[in-house]
Amino acid sequence: MLFDCDPAPKLVGIARLAASSELLESKRQVEYLELETRRFIGRGSGRMRSIWTVNPYRGCEFGCKYCYARYAHEFMELRDPELFERKIYAKQFNAQAFRAELRRVKPGQSIWIGTATDPYQPAERRFRITRGMLEVLAGARGLDLGITTKSDLVSRDADLLARIARHNTVRVHLTITTLDEALARLLEPLAPRPALRLGAVRKLSESGIPVSVLAHPVMPLINDSEKSLDAVCAASASHGASAFSAAPLFLKPCSQQVFFPFLEQRFPHLVRRYRERFEKNAYLKGQYPELIQERVRRIRARHKLKPWQTPEWPLGDQLELFAEPGTVQTDGTLQRKVDPV
Ligand code: SF4
Repeated sequence: MLFDCDPAPKLVGIARLAASSELLESKRQVEYLELETRRFIGRGSGRMRSIWTVNPYRGCEFGCKYCYARYAHEFMELRDPELFERKIYAKQFNAQAFRAELRRVKPGQSIWIGTATDPYQPAERRFRITRGMLEVLAGARGLDLGITTKSDLVSRDADLLARIARHNTVRVHLTITTLDEALARLLEPLAPRPALRLGAVRKLSESGIPVSVLAHPVMPLINDSEKSLDAVCAASASHGASAFSAAPLFLKPCSQQVFFPFLEQRFPHLVRRYRERFEKNAYLKGQYPELIQERVRRIRARHKLKPWQTPEWPLGDQLELFAEPGTVQTDGTLQRKVDPV
């Protein structure tokens, strides 16, 4: 024997289920898999503790270079950060179970869809899990529903959201980091073009749904100029948004693994400065965050938009994902594999 080595570690829980997931479909090197879920509705962490969170998918095909949610695949022992955008797990949806869980959310409480991964990523066109959840939410009363996305697909559900809004508060937060289409393509390779997202802002606001545009993350020397942020805010206002916010980039180690090589390739002159700042701390400290907040306040006032408000959003806090015991399935026909734990 050339090397002594430990036997492969025994996988447990969600890692074991993820490893045994059967292929639903393979497309452009993306695999869609279905994961059985014991809980659809979780609790946020940190300052998000008071908020109920829902994430219909694990992984996200949009593949934003700065994405902070890549760490979630590590729970499934998928440690290559690229797998986050190539192995997409759709939670096996059960409307009855979701309705039963929803009883835990009391009138006046906030429930937010898409706190970790995008609920309107390409998988949603096919699997319609977000849509299924909204159909159940249409029967709820007195809730504060928020949705965060980077996709114009959210406007598909404008009528349904308007129906939910008759008995609940509904807000949609669309992320638009830049109006520069070439830059957006580099930063968010498979996300819909900024112009399409603005079209969704218009359609939703015309349907009576309040829309906030979020220009985060603000990346130093990439999209942080007053001109760039002002252009996003101005377009948001002219398309009917009611609020606008932006906050600086934070880069946890799992995000750095993708973001630094991206910088080396596309913005080599920025590599040293980014490494110096983010390798010591995932969050930017000092004057920069204050300068950005001041800039955003000024821009927002110029275009007469509000900041987005309650519930307090954790601009910088890592959000919590839940490791659920799972199952898997094949092309449309469910194969249950219930975790015995
Ligand atoms: S849309 Fe959100 S979850 Fe998806 S890759 Fe981009 S930052 Fe990550």
